[in-house]
Amino acid sequence: MAFLEFTDIDKSFEDNNVVSNFNLKVEKGEFIVLLGPSGCGKTTLLRMIAGLEKIDKGKIILENSLLNDLLPSKRQIAMVFQSYALYPHMNVFKNISFGLTNDKLNKNEIKDKVLETAKILKIEELLDRKPKELSGGQRQRVAIGRAITRNPKLFLFDEPLSNLDAALRSEMRVEISKLHKKLKSNIIYVTHDQIEAMTLADKIVIMNKGNIEQFGSPDDIYNNPKNIFVAEFIGNPKMNIIKIDKKDIKDKDTFNLFNKSIKFENSNFENGFYVGIRPEDISLENKSEIAVEVNIELIENLGSEKIIFTYFNSTEIRIKSSKNIKDKKITIYLPKNKLYLFDNNKNRLKT
Ligand code: ADP
Ligand code: MG
Repeated sequence: MAFLEFTDIDKSFEDNNVVSNFNLKVEKGEFIVLLGPSGCGKTTLLRMIAGLEKIDKGKIILENSLLNDLLPSKRQIAMVFQSYALYPHMNVFKNISFGLTNDKLNKNEIKDKVLETAKILKIEELLDRKPKELSGGQRQRVAIGRAITRNPKLFLFDEPLSNLDAALRSEMRVEISKLHKKLKSNIIYVTHDQIEAMTLADKIVIMNKGNIEQFGSPDDIYNNPKNIFVAEFIGNPKMNIIKIDKKDIKDKDTFNLFNKSIKFENSNFENGFYVGIRPEDISLENKSEIAVEVNIELIENLGSEKIIFTYFNSTEIRIKSSKNIKDKKITIYLPKNKLYLFDNNKNRLKT
């Protein structure tokens, strides 16, 4: 049995079906990231795990015990919210030790635990301050500290970094990653930020409208997206998707892309379909059989790299490159082995 198992979970709010037929198995020690657009049911799922929301149907089992009917306080789960949820009138020490006072620990044991946690999170010198005297990043550390001292079986994080500015966000991201390496605990982390998902997760769950689109390691999701939703959700700028109409299909294994004839042996291209290519896989230097001359519409300079926007017919093509470009017209090369093919239903075609 897996460490944590979800079986056929359903949840509706009145007639709004928010999570449906959710099935997932999590192994001990894994850092799982739930990634999906706003409103796809991520928070609702966390709240069901924590016991803050009733489950309509299905089972959640944590280390062989059924969570469904357990009181939140009996689940040994700690949740860290986006809004920190600190007690404003209590200092940092009190905030961190809050839950511990019910745990039959004596004063010294509590103090040791708080100090140890504060050390891990580098907030030892803040223990006397009130939340309003802390920066956003420090508040978030306190909220995490409170979760750590509970010594939970499972940590739940709901977009914990989304209130922080960009620099602090990447710093805290690294801290959370180190924390996981140190504690080796199970974490379920919700975000709509693909960079957080890629950098933190052992495995990512890509969610869409209450369903799982794909579950896999970051590399697997990036390299082998199952459908166009996943392909476009991971990667920045997003994957270029080019529609191949029926009229562009020359033969059952050959089609036209940018006026070039492309053959995929043993294919069966009868209907229209889609070709995807990542902006970072299009080259300006390494020549390949699919070469297209395009006009540059716009270049976004990000410093170390540039995003080049071009059009072919009416399809926008985005290219990532570190090259300095002076010309208005360039030749771009699409390596055939970097093309992703998707059928009419937007599911990946085997090639
Ligand atoms: P996410 O965290 O992925 O942004 P949520 O789980 O918060 O998504 O919400 C999913 C859907 O459920 C949304 O359509 C939201 O409006 C709805 N929803 C969430 N909580 C409630 C609630 N308590 N009552 C009614 N609808 C809710
Ligand atoms: Mg949410």
